[in-house]
This record gives sequence, C-alpha cells and structure tokens, in this order.
Amino acid sequence: MEFPTVCPACARENRAEFTDSSVHDLTCAHCGARYCVFLRKQRFEVLFDLGTRALMDGYAREAVASFAAALERFFEFYVWAFTLERAANAEQEFGAALAGLEGTWRHVSSQSERQLGMFALAYLLREGREPDFLTARGLGTDFRNRVIHRGALPTRAEVEAYAALVFALIDRLLTELGPGAAHAELAQEQGFAAHLAGLPDGVTAVFEEHPGMFRARRFGGLAPTPKHSPQPGLVPGQVPGQARKPGKAVNDARAYQQALFRQALEERGALLRSFKGPPPGGPGPE
Ligand SMILES: [Zn+2]
Repeated sequence: MEFPTVCPACARENRAEFTDSSVHDLTCAHCGARYCVFLRKQRFEVLFDLGTRALMDGYAREAVASFAAALERFFEFYVWAFTLERAANAEQEFGAALAGLEGTWRHVSSQSERQLGMFALAYLLREGREPDFLTARGLGTDFRNRVIHRGALPTRAEVEAYAALVFALIDRLLTELGPGAAHAELAQEQGFAAHLAGLPDGVTAVFEEHPGMFRARRFGGLAPTPKHSPQPGLVPGQVPGQARKPGKAVNDARAYQQALFRQALEERGALLRSFKGPPPGGPGPE
C-alpha cells in the first residue's frame, strides 16, 4: 500500500510504500534528491485507515481483516502506553523500560491470545476495573472468525457495524488513555531519532502527520473529551444528535457506535481518499 510524498527539493510527488518502522528512505524520481519521510502514525491507525479505505471502495470482505488487525495492534499499543507511562511515573529510565518491554513482548508476539491476556491485566492495573468489553460480543469475534477463517461473504452493512464497533472501542480506550498515549508515541519518536542520527549528509528529513480516523480526535481536532466519557455531552448508548431515550441499551449502544463511526467518516473520509487514493491515472487500490 502506497502513499504520496512531496520531494523537499523539487516539490513533485513520489509514492512510497508503508513500512513497519514508519521510516521511509526515498530518492526523488524526478530530481534525484534523497529524503527520508518519518510518518507519525501508529500501526493500528494505518490498519484502521486501510480498512476504512477498503470499505469506502466496496471491498467489504478485505476491510474486515484490516479492522481486526487494527484492534489487535491497538491492544499492543495500549500495553506499550501503559507500561511506559508506569515506568515514567516510577522515574525509571525510558531506554531501560523500553528494552524490558520489547523483551517481554517477544514472548507473546506470535500469539494473539497471549497479547490479549497482557492487555487485560494492563487495563485492570490502569483503570482499576475489569475489561468487561473483552467478550466475543464486545469484540465482534464471531463475525470476524466467520469472515476471516471460514470465508463468509459479509454484507457492507455487517462490515460497517463491525468497523463501528472496533472504532468505538479504540476511541473509548484512547480517551481513557488520554496523555498516557504519548508514552507509546515516544517509543516511535526514539526510533526516528536513532535513524535521523544515522542519515548521511545531504538527505533531508521530513516529518509527516497524516490525517486519519483517530488522529484529529487525539490532537484536538474535535472538542476535548472528558475521561471515561466517549464524547462530550453524551452518555454511553446515546446517539450523537439525538435526545437520550431510556431503555433499549443494546440497540442504543450499537446505534451510538455507528453514529460515532459515521461522524468520523464524514469528517475524515475525504482526507483518507486524497491521502491513500491511487495516483492520477494509475491503478486502483491494492
Ligand atoms: Zn525532487
């Protein structure tokens, strides 16, 4: 999957492929200038945006895999944020805390059930309560497995409902994390700094923050959100733009998730399209 970059020397566009490290060493195809794009974006964000893009383009089934992967990587991000935040509060040195975390993660990195276990404990320790959303229903597990493992062909409406569920859950947990999320981002910044220090002379460093389904919300694009409340003025289950009705908690929760997701899509969908769209006259999305 590619994204457009602008050459800092001649201002023309070059396309780059997303890397796992978010570091992209590039040579301009037009003028030959070398530059390095550091993309300030977490893996779960890239995956969720790819899923959204696939959904917008009518690839409903493919979108499910991206949304499911985004949720798994978000749980990892949460464990990272929690552990590094805790280390900072205990005045532990960042590098040592990061090394311990990376070593520990290697023990769980190949099995998602182990990672889920780490997340569950991290949530309990940070929030002081059970992660009661970690149920098959709360995570949309049955739907995900039917599509990914059993080859079911979902309808667009089903995929939208799943996307909305994943979006609302990540959005809620990001809101609870609040400034704690910055600790995980610091790990990415440190990786950037190490790469930056090793860049040869004549290579221009470019730092980019791309629009995404979560980014605007996290960096003040929307109104500030109080802790433990998914949206200002809304109680869980309430649909934005509607007065709260008593009862029907389950339907309300689903409607709330969908309204939240649709709102984000309305605000940022167009940005995603221009950011991740195919080059003019080029092939369609991968
Ligand atoms: Zn150039």
